[in-house]
Amino acid sequence: MPQPRRTLIRHATILTMDASLGDLRDADLLIERDRIEAVGTVPAREAAIVDARGCIVIPGLVNAHLHTWQTALRGIAADWSIAEYIRKMHAGLATVFKPEDLYIATAVGALNQLNCGTTTLVDWCHNNPTPEHDDAAIDALYESGVRAAFFHGSPKPDPAKGAAPFWEIPHPRAELERIQKHRIGGLISLGAAILGPQYSTLEVTLHDFRMARELGLIASMHQSGGVPRCPEGWQNLEDAGLMDERVNIVHGNTFTDDQLARFCSLGVNFTVAPGIEMSMGHGLPVTGRLRRLGCAPSLGIDIETLASGEMLLAARTALETQRALDHRDGCSAMIPARDALAWATIEGARMLGMEDSIGSLAPGKQADLVMIDASKLNMQPLHDPVSAVVLQASLANIDSVMVAGKWKKRGGKLLFGTLADKLSKLRESGERILHAIHNERAPLH
Ligand SMILES: [Zn+2]
Repeated sequence: MPQPRRTLIRHATILTMDASLGDLRDADLLIERDRIEAVGTVPAREAAIVDARGCIVIPGLVNAHLHTWQTALRGIAADWSIAEYIRKMHAGLATVFKPEDLYIATAVGALNQLNCGTTTLVDWCHNNPTPEHDDAAIDALYESGVRAAFFHGSPKPDPAKGAAPFWEIPHPRAELERIQKHRIGGLISLGAAILGPQYSTLEVTLHDFRMARELGLIASMHQSGGVPRCPEGWQNLEDAGLMDERVNIVHGNTFTDDQLARFCSLGVNFTVAPGIEMSMGHGLPVTGRLRRLGCAPSLGIDIETLASGEMLLAARTALETQRALDHRDGCSAMIPARDALAWATIEGARMLGMEDSIGSLAPGKQADLVMIDASKLNMQPLHDPVSAVVLQASLANIDSVMVAGKWKKRGGKLLFGTLADKLSKLRESGERILHAIHNERAPLH
């Protein structure tokens, strides 16, 4: 559908998440092509007018960590600990995925993110044994219309007889370079989803960090979830001068306070996935420990095989968890609800090094935003729009979503042709994967 060059959103409550602009009531937001032109009181002009009375406009949410390839297996890991997940998912189910499974899972997973208000998705793709798997996932990201950072990873199967185990295999640089050269552009960017000290040897860790740096990519890795393969790796990385703002650590629950302090001082950033961390046994989220160091995490869903895909829910869970820990520790100062909205917006942008273009609403930035219908039963009366968004809003209130100036959802409906075919293929994919694993390997349960 052709969309007008200019869109003027009028009479909205706008939470800009921009320090100088703050929160605005009965305000306007002018969008020209893919960018925000003005925020505040905007004189009438030729534009598609959107009357946003009763709505709260927030920056598009940034989901900083999702294994979108698992969408066809939603809920399957509901009762799995992290150890079971590693065995049953990575050494089991993951091994029977075909490129078409990556495609449909990524397509539906990304569309669901848009529907839930995520405008930027970090697709942490580590079930990609062939270039065809990568291409299928990237095709799906383009098709969905979400802004995405494709974080290219590598699978973790059980070692085949006589072959090197995954933890001794350096990241496939040639494939990363192929993707960087031929598949990235427009709304899609690239990162390196490496094994790191948790899942690889020192030699591989150092190789992968240096590779990411040479290619100008963020190096992202998991930490926690069992005994690390190379616990001394972090110190070696620090000594080699490889720990800085281009490093993203997912979870980080088992770092000592000293390690966290050093990493924060070096600019390393952290992504918390609150729901799955507490459910699976990763340990307690590092949110509060970072906050005491003057830092803040970005947030991710991680896996829809165990968690809801709603980023607002993740923000709420992260906030409530940290408040519980603070109360336990006798700290009377409540973390403001606004912080949780920052974790799900501007902090995600910062992790990606994209804070100048996304994560808040200000002139010159990309027009990535969410309109929340606050006139509904669950959000009235609206005394405090920030707390209403963080504590009360749900998917039912996500009225409209815009990415780079284009509506992806309007009036509560995703603007994406027919979803029935996609959902049918997703169901088939999930059934095929489960059937294959039950026939080829030991049962899951
Ligand atoms: Zn993860």
